[in-house]
Amino acid sequence: MKCGECKSKAERVLTETEFDYNGVKKQAVNVPALYCPNCKKTVVPDMIYLRLKDYAERFGDDIIDFTECDNKDSEDMMIVTNMMWNM
Ligand SMILES: [Zn+2]
Repeated sequence: MKCGECKSKAERVLTETEFDYNGVKKQAVNVPALYCPNCKKTVVPDMIYLRLKDYAERFGDDIIDFTECDNKDSEDMMIVTNMMWNM
């Protein structure tokens, strides 16, 4: 992934952020983001914010652990896949 500003190579990091969910401020941890060593900036992609809002809706926690929710998501997917196999 490249930095949106200087186009140099950005690293993938985990960060903390705050976001707005229906007017309520929520905190998120273990959020995948891009860090540009050139600009010294960490940017959370819009796509990630969309998923955070989705997780806030489904799990309803005040602090959203993105990685944990992501794992839960994968488990759900596995259950769905298993159900399909057993049909
Ligand atoms: Zn940059």
